[in-house]
Amino acid sequence: MKSTKLNDQILDVVESLLDDNHTLSFRMEGYSMYPTMKAGDLGHVVKCSANDLNVGDLIVFKQNEKLVAHRLIEIVHQNNQRVFVARGDKNHHKDNLFSDDELVGRITSIQRKNRTIKSQSLYMQIQRFKADNFSKILIPFYNLSIQLKNQLNNISSGYRSFKKNLSIVAENSGKLLWTNAVISVFQGVIPFVVIVCIKSLIDQLTVTTAYNAHQHLMFVTLLIATALVFLLSAVLTEISSFFSEKMSQSVTHNIYQKLHAKHIDLELSNFENPAKQDKIHRAVQEASYRPLKIMNELLTGIRSVASSLFLVGIFASIRWYLVLVLFIAVVPGIYVRLRFSKQLYKLKESQSTKEREMYYYNRILTGFPFAKELKLFGFFNFFRNLFADTQHTLFDQKLKHRKAELKMGIYAQFFSVSIIFLSLGFVTFMKINDEISIGTVVLFFFAFQRGYSVLNDFFRSITSIVEDNTFLKDFIQFLNTPTRAKIAPLNNYRFSLQKEIRFENVSFKYESSKREALKSINLTIPAGKTVAFVGANGSGKSTMIKLLCGFYAPDSGKILFDDVDAATLGQAMICENITAVFQDFALYNISAIENIWLGSTKSPFRRDQAQKAAEAAGIADVIERLPDGYNTLLGNQFKGGEELSIGQWQKIAIARAFYRDSPLILMDEPSSALDAEAELQIIDGLRKLSKDKTAVIISHRLSTVEWADLIYFFQEGQVLESGTHKQLMAKKGKYYSLFKSANGQKELS
Ligand code: ADP
Ligand code: MG
Repeated sequence: MKSTKLNDQILDVVESLLDDNHTLSFRMEGYSMYPTMKAGDLGHVVKCSANDLNVGDLIVFKQNEKLVAHRLIEIVHQNNQRVFVARGDKNHHKDNLFSDDELVGRITSIQRKNRTIKSQSLYMQIQRFKADNFSKILIPFYNLSIQLKNQLNNISSGYRSFKKNLSIVAENSGKLLWTNAVISVFQGVIPFVVIVCIKSLIDQLTVTTAYNAHQHLMFVTLLIATALVFLLSAVLTEISSFFSEKMSQSVTHNIYQKLHAKHIDLELSNFENPAKQDKIHRAVQEASYRPLKIMNELLTGIRSVASSLFLVGIFASIRWYLVLVLFIAVVPGIYVRLRFSKQLYKLKESQSTKEREMYYYNRILTGFPFAKELKLFGFFNFFRNLFADTQHTLFDQKLKHRKAELKMGIYAQFFSVSIIFLSLGFVTFMKINDEISIGTVVLFFFAFQRGYSVLNDFFRSITSIVEDNTFLKDFIQFLNTPTRAKIAPLNNYRFSLQKEIRFENVSFKYESSKREALKSINLTIPAGKTVAFVGANGSGKSTMIKLLCGFYAPDSGKILFDDVDAATLGQAMICENITAVFQDFALYNISAIENIWLGSTKSPFRRDQAQKAAEAAGIADVIERLPDGYNTLLGNQFKGGEELSIGQWQKIAIARAFYRDSPLILMDEPSSALDAEAELQIIDGLRKLSKDKTAVIISHRLSTVEWADLIYFFQEGQVLESGTHKQLMAKKGKYYSLFKSANGQKELS
């Protein structure tokens, strides 16, 4: 018995459970104890003192942080110490030594499926006898049976996952897939029908009897039939390209629908966590072409099957064993392809981290956000070298793989071509002996040549499907990413903010971080008031905003909106009822008016409200001066767009937040790109917009903070002080000293 590495704590638990007279069951992982025990068997282990051990017992001991089950074969004494000698039944030539304190317990019985076998039973004695005397003969058979079983399991689980994946990617495109499949069947058969027609024509031409009217008619009919088949083939090609385009569009549409729907459902943590971000990135990349590729490969497969069936018929009509010869000819090629496609996936998997690094360096070298620093500091070569080195390593590995494949591929082709030539010789020989007609020889030549490529196509499509299916895994996994169960709000719970928002003992830690971002926060945000959060960078202010929006749930504690737990309301309901300007607001390259309307797209656009919001955000003048006023396209991504300064963009984001009419507004450093005066204007605008709004503002400016009804001072995820500006100054605590030190700059922290 082998086991995955265990740490000391687990071993301690195991030992203490055994000490308490529990029986523990361990599942065999390897099969060093074959034939006595097999992989998958459960061994029931009890505590056993080293003094009670007998030679022949099945025992469990610790070795290299693993638990090993072997048979005790000898107890020896070395330097006044007792040493146990144990062996696996399979590798009965290799001893394992262990001492008293490494002994874990004794196996009293094993369980194989529903059967329990006592370790002293006759069956076990026989197994041991077999192990001692015949293991050399039995082991290879056992290994083979395990391999076969694994292969069958792989095939059946691969087929199941393929079926499932296909049903996901082909959803809504089922009819088109069927249409294309039928076309493929025809396309697979027609080339061989042509060959049969040609054969018949040749046979007609080479008949030795005198030419007569009946033959004349036959000949003309055959000619017309051949022409019709050609025509059908040409028409099918046209039809097929139309329907395959239609299917491609339908699948692509379906995939993007799914991709976008999933993105909307995903929690924020998926976007803020680098590892998850990588996964999403991979999924999106694969999603852009794999689903379509897998369906096209499937159609190729269908076409090849249709061809193969027809082909088998043709060959069987000449000599049945020629079918076998054809199969033998392609087997080496298939073997090479299967073997290397598996290796390729492994290689790609192992390369994925390096590949992402390479893409990242490429983004730095080509992306806009880096361009300014790249030029100024001139670190172009630094990233260029990193990129080139990574690329070189990756390419090298791939080339090595290709080289090995090439070598094997050439051998396989050599083999196939030899077989083909031998059979061609055989058929020619049959003709010389007048066993077959000249038409049949031609039929065979053509059919063999085509059949060889058809079979190759078939197996190529199978291996590609296997490969695509494996790669599609990332995408399907992404679609199955669990999202926090959306708790449907109970009917009698509605969002309300008449009284207050209360944080009760709220603690929170980001998944990817070791430290708590918020520690036991207790605070109240009274309705209708303006509350400010202040504190140094990283003190947890933005995290508070994310929790208020319901993007994250507290690890412990509660957030209550008018005494209703935010968890009961659900994230969707909270988001609908609040508005926010984030520290890292987004820029949308659409018109100014649309930029503002985004704040509340559920209701029809109201121009007067948008103008009011723009005025309150102090951006109305700027918009009105734009070439098309409110209809001007913003940003420089598209032709005709008007680029704004970062401060102006920020004001647009504020206008968007103001446009939404909600009782709570959250502003996380809403004016980091603006001057102090503009910030005051915005706060003023907010007041004018609605007197009874509750506002939470994070700001580094004293002018803003001074003005708040209530201030919370954050430090390292905790609230250190709270009160009005006056109260906090009078307290002469942390806030006071920060205020004093920052007074000169009029900025906090
Ligand atoms: P503030 O807004 O006060 O500057 P934040 O709330 O953004 O601070 O951050 C509080 C702490 O949480 C910091 O230690 C920061 O490193 C950490 N943090 C913030 N965002 C994440 C994130 N997405 N993943 C992991 N840790 C984060
Ligand atoms: Mg912040």
